[in-house]
This record gives sequence, C-alpha cells and structure tokens, in this order.
Amino acid sequence: PDLARDVASSLRAIPDFPEPGVVFKDFTPLLLDTALRDRVVADVVRRRAGAVDVVIGVEARGFILGSIIAHELGVGFVPVRKEGKLPADTHSVSYTLEYGSATIELHTDAVWPGQRVLVVDDVLATGGTAAATVELVGRCGGQTVAVEVVLELGFLNGRDQLAGTEVHALLTD
Ligand code: 5GP
Repeated sequence: PDLARDVASSLRAIPDFPEPGVVFKDFTPLLLDTALRDRVVADVVRRRAGAVDVVIGVEARGFILGSIIAHELGVGFVPVRKEGKLPADTHSVSYTLEYGSATIELHTDAVWPGQRVLVVDDVLATGGTAAATVELVGRCGGQTVAVEVVLELGFLNGRDQLAGTEVHALLTD
C-alpha cells in the first residue's frame, strides 16, 4: 500500500495528450526518483525471482523498467516493437485500437519453446497491447508467466482481454 501510494504521487496526469479528451499518465518522474524506482523494481523481482527465464519489454516505455527488472532477475531482455522496427525474422500480431489498428512484432528466435516469460509495461489500458504480446509469446512456444504493469486503468477492463494470464498492477486507477 505504501509503495502504491508513493507511485501514485509520482505519476503525473497530463490532460489532452496525445489527443483531446485523453488524460495521459506520465511516469517519467518515477524514473528520476532513484529510491522509488528501486522499490518498484524490487517489488516485481521479489514476486518473480526464480520463476522467469526471460523478460519482454513492450515499446517504448516497457523497455525502461523491463531492462532493469531483467538485469535484477539475472535473465535476458527481449524487445517487442512496433511494426517494421525489428531487423530479423519476426512474428507479427495486429490488434484493434479505439481508432484503427496497431501491429507489434517479436523476433522469432528471441523466445524459445517452454520458456517462462514475464511481460513488463508501464500502463495497462484497454489490454490490447498486452494481449497481443501474450499471443506473440505463444507463437514462439513460450509461456507467459505474468504481465506486470505499474498502472492499470481499471475502468478500461484490460484484464478481460487477458483471461488465463496473471496480471499484476502496482497501482489501479
Ligand atoms: P492498451 O493496449 O492496453 O490500450 O494500451 C497500453 C499501451 O499504451 C502501453 O504500451 C502503454 O505504454 C500505452 N498507454 C496507454 N495509455 C497510457 C497512459 O495514460 N500513460 C502511459 N504512460 N502509457 C499509456
């Protein structure tokens, strides 16, 4: 509860970003607060130590905490990126956004069959990105142990898209 409260006070709400009507939760101040950042990482590491073979971070903000968490867990880091950014052979999954669609990709040889994968991102909103990431892990034969996010926007019901996958949020709005 203390950690959730401290994370809540470090997040900034930016109205009308990236478009009118959206209130964007900015977690860059958390990255500057080294003590709080360490507590956030330690909380995830305590839950997942020994249970994860590789960490996936989702472009772009998932790269930041995901890399630190992978380092602390002593496992590899794998990027999931937007379409066209990864150079080698990829699996590709498209999903629906409020307006239009998005495609994300994973290198086919980055996750091996049977590997236990932890997915890290900053925010779970509609759940489309996380669900597509879990689908990518499955295409490689990997198993998603959990999705860890700093903030879950509960009113968007993102968990409904992730039935069968453990979702942990430090904080729910
Ligand atoms: P979803 O696919 O769950 O709708 O959206 C999640 C993705 O969009 C995540 O990769 C997350 O980084 C980004 N996102 C959506 N809303 C916000 C927000 O309010 N703040 C931040 N930092 N990221 C957001």
